[in-house]
Amino acid sequence: MILSSLARTALALAVLVPLAKAQEGAPARTPSAAQRSALASLEATRVKQQALATRLWEWAELGLREERSSLALIAFLEAEGFTIERGPSGMPTAFLASWGSGAPVLAFLSEYDALPELSQLAEPRLEPRVAGAGGHGCGHNLFGVASAAAGVALKAAMEAQRLGGTVRIYGTPAEEQGIGKTFLVRDGRFDDVDACLSWHPAHRNAVLVQASKALRSFEITFHGRAAHASAAPWEGVSALDGLEAFCAGVNLLREHFPETARVHYVITEGGAAPNIVPARARLWGFVRADDWKQQDKVFRHVVAIAEGADRMAWGEEYGDTQRGFRACEIDVLSGLYEYNVNRALAARMHRAFELVGAPAYSESEQEFGRNLQRAFGLSPKGYPTDVLPFDPQAPPIPGGSTDVANVSWVTPTADVSVATWPFGVPAHSWASTAASGAPGGYRAMHTAAQVLALTAADLLEDPDALREMREELQRARERFDYGPPVPKEATPRLPWHERGGVKK
Ligand SMILES: [Zn+2]
Repeated sequence: MILSSLARTALALAVLVPLAKAQEGAPARTPSAAQRSALASLEATRVKQQALATRLWEWAELGLREERSSLALIAFLEAEGFTIERGPSGMPTAFLASWGSGAPVLAFLSEYDALPELSQLAEPRLEPRVAGAGGHGCGHNLFGVASAAAGVALKAAMEAQRLGGTVRIYGTPAEEQGIGKTFLVRDGRFDDVDACLSWHPAHRNAVLVQASKALRSFEITFHGRAAHASAAPWEGVSALDGLEAFCAGVNLLREHFPETARVHYVITEGGAAPNIVPARARLWGFVRADDWKQQDKVFRHVVAIAEGADRMAWGEEYGDTQRGFRACEIDVLSGLYEYNVNRALAARMHRAFELVGAPAYSESEQEFGRNLQRAFGLSPKGYPTDVLPFDPQAPPIPGGSTDVANVSWVTPTADVSVATWPFGVPAHSWASTAASGAPGGYRAMHTAAQVLALTAADLLEDPDALREMREELQRARERFDYGPPVPKEATPRLPWHERGGVKK
């Protein structure tokens, strides 16, 4: 999940609400025969899963560079009898793993990209494994493996109970930058899916009911003209001036954004040396808002600011190509809609979660959790041991965005959060990176795979459920009149492809 700091605060606040015991009052249920087969498969592959998740955690490969991680997941799925399509939608580290045939088609989403500069030991103290390298601060090492294992478990259940249909696992790279699913959805790769199940590492146990924020990822390149910055500055046009004017403009406008909108950016290129007027400057930014339309409105304003900033930098030479004028370029890298959670599917997922229960952390895992919380400045409560009640009316949690959202408008989709991290530990931090490589994280990963597999097995045994979910999606789509999130001709790319600054 791509989280802003406000989202993290909101998440932290949300969990302060007293938690009701999920099991109270719920009818006693036992797993069906298909569900028991799925659970047995997950036990059988448990050691393999953990070894795989550890390797992914150590490699911590960044978006669109997840070569070893995707190959390891492919090897795991191939060994379990899945057929692999490599590199769909022009992404070498993406894959589609399929087993079975015909309807229904049930899909699991696997993510495995890390975040830059978050390398960390699996210890409750701040210390990088490899200084400056990436780290799994969003727990996608656990995410990727649990989803793949759930697919394998569903296959086992279908074989054991002679259930028909197709299991498909989507290997979706670069989720942190909203790339993988966005391009797969654009290319129609989810069009035949009957239901899609996803999860995400978290510091709580709950089935998602709220929408995420819509987002647009963009890169702006300002052009100027190099000159000696002291001997002849009047001969130069500073691309960095354009970029700085753009930032000032965006920050003035911020006061007038809708309160739910966000703009954040990093400067990826700002010139080479102070004594050369910068001929090129670049910025990578995100615009977010509660829905795609609100986001689009803010984005158009941001585009106008970029054009204004370009005029300021070039002055009277603006438009004079003889003097080397070149307008700034705005490249849309990705677009994410707000998440359209399928309530009928989410309710089924919650039932499966109640059946499985929250991860049963050992005392040494809880001790690790408390030490991690102390080191991070949080109260030492350990990992949460409850499943939060299912509340379709829960207030929105502002902040996060995910490319799962684009899938959710094509096929009924739902998501579960499982506490891979101790209570209050925010995503994208050294502490979440440490916890994603620790035993408590692997225990929660196993729970996540169980919830996914049991939900899917439940769907296969109840064809009416899929129809109900499809109808809910159709009702939601009546208000869906959004444009495409990325241009038709766009190819998946990220700013760190063109520079050597980010270590793997
Ligand atoms: Zn994530």
